[in-house]
Amino acid sequence: MELRFSPLFSGSSGNAIYVGCGDTHILVDAGLSGTRIANELEKIGVHPSQLTAILVTHEHSDHVSGVGVLSRKYHLPVYATEGTWDGMAGKIGAVEAQFRCMIEPERDFYLGELNVMPFSTPHDANQPVGLCFESGGARFAIATDVGCPKKGWMNAIRGADAALLESNYDPDMLKAGSYPYELKRRILSNRGHLCNDDAGSCALELARAGAKHIVLGHLSKENNFPELARRCTEDALRAGGAILGADVRLDVAKRDGVTGIFAVTSRFD
Ligand SMILES: [Zn+2]
Ligand SMILES: [Zn+2]
Repeated sequence: MELRFSPLFSGSSGNAIYVGCGDTHILVDAGLSGTRIANELEKIGVHPSQLTAILVTHEHSDHVSGVGVLSRKYHLPVYATEGTWDGMAGKIGAVEAQFRCMIEPERDFYLGELNVMPFSTPHDANQPVGLCFESGGARFAIATDVGCPKKGWMNAIRGADAALLESNYDPDMLKAGSYPYELKRRILSNRGHLCNDDAGSCALELARAGAKHIVLGHLSKENNFPELARRCTEDALRAGGAILGADVRLDVAKRDGVTGIFAVTSRFD
């Protein structure tokens, strides 16, 4: 069965990513209205009622605002860490007890054909996680909302064949921009977001470990441009000796709407 993924929305104004394999259809985060997410899912041929589950990385609004609505309307189980459940309690409304599923960082589980490994991330939320999916030897990782390049989460995703990696901001744009001081400090901190240069070095590390496809995501609307994020990571990959297009393919996820549906193939195939 082929592992595939599709970023539906990616950015500070809302995130939702589809991951599928055979009849297993997962939505990772639902940070927009249920209707907008349902519309994008339909574009890739998935009706929300076909979803196996919603997985939530952390409780920030750009990841949870549609979770409750989708769960109630389509009777979908929701998987999140205990800290995330606590954090989103007041944001998503009631979720039926049978659909409240608990996960733990660094403890893997199965959803249909997919093995799911949540891993801890450095981010200013209660108990945030990134996610690694594996099926038939093919691995896809989601690492956004990661404050800094750290061994822990980098080790968790090293060896992924494809990854959605945060490239949130350009430090000069952020410093010169209109954000209030406190917000700038938060984003720049080790528990905020990943800047373009750090995304570049992480992408190189992934490519060296065999990743064939990297999609940059969760770009800031105010403090970044897709072309700038792409160029930073392209430069880092080239400087490290990777041949773009041959060794590794690079894409930038759209803020709004389906970027594409991508198959993940194992390097051993
Ligand atoms: Zn966040
Ligand atoms: Zn976020």
